[in-house]
Amino acid sequence: MFTPYLRQAAIDYGIELSEEQLSAFNRYYQLLVEWNEKMNLTAITEPQEVAVKHMIDSLSCYDTAFFAQNAKMVDVGTGAGFPGIPLKIFRPDLQLTLVDSLNKRLTFLQCVIAELGLTDVTVVHARAEEGARKRELRDKFDVALSRAVARLNVLSELCLPFVAPGGCFIALKGAQYEEEVKEAQQAIRVLGGKLIKTQPVKLPGLDDKRAVIYIRKEKPTPGVYPRKPGTPEKKPL
Ligand code: SAM
Repeated sequence: MFTPYLRQAAIDYGIELSEEQLSAFNRYYQLLVEWNEKMNLTAITEPQEVAVKHMIDSLSCYDTAFFAQNAKMVDVGTGAGFPGIPLKIFRPDLQLTLVDSLNKRLTFLQCVIAELGLTDVTVVHARAEEGARKRELRDKFDVALSRAVARLNVLSELCLPFVAPGGCFIALKGAQYEEEVKEAQQAIRVLGGKLIKTQPVKLPGLDDKRAVIYIRKEKPTPGVYPRKPGTPEKKPL
């Protein structure tokens, strides 16, 4: 029984979910658990944990200031769809692109999109280093999002090139976020970004440290970035 947990967690977090949204989240949960038996999608499968650590955590980056009506967002290294799919269920007007380098996870996402009847969702099989060099993806998004893919200095190089100048890169981060923000200062600047805010997050029933980092892209990212696959990680800016 997933829905009651999610309903309660949303209330505790201060988010209002409609019955239609709860039902979409529930179907997403069922598919996640079902497909997780065939492929490695998540280590978290208990309903209460998925409700908080995947669904509400994904929504924790939602801030009206950064998500305009019909905004275009890209989720870089989306895996099983976090945080992109929960945000799309929450705000169906948003146009979503999901990027991941692992094709089998994208097969799962295609199934979720079809089963939930989600529209305006595009799935891209690519490494971010290559995807961000495609003309149709570079500088094209109001928001780039990412959770659990790389440290912030590396992640900035993978995400900021997708963002249109004036748009925002939003990173969902765990316990080491303060260190990561310090370590990423130079990378953010070189890539054309500016740190706007670090928002600590407290999830219902959890005491672990986490935060959402909001970075505005003020200037175009220099054409040399992102560097070739693997280099951002091997030689972080
Ligand atoms: N964002 C999801 C979440 O929070 O549950 C998935 C996190 S999972 C630990 C990391 C994902 O990032 C994997 O699906 C992996 O294939 C993808 N990934 C890692 N490096 C990537 C890159 N350079 N380009 C695209 N995807 C990448």
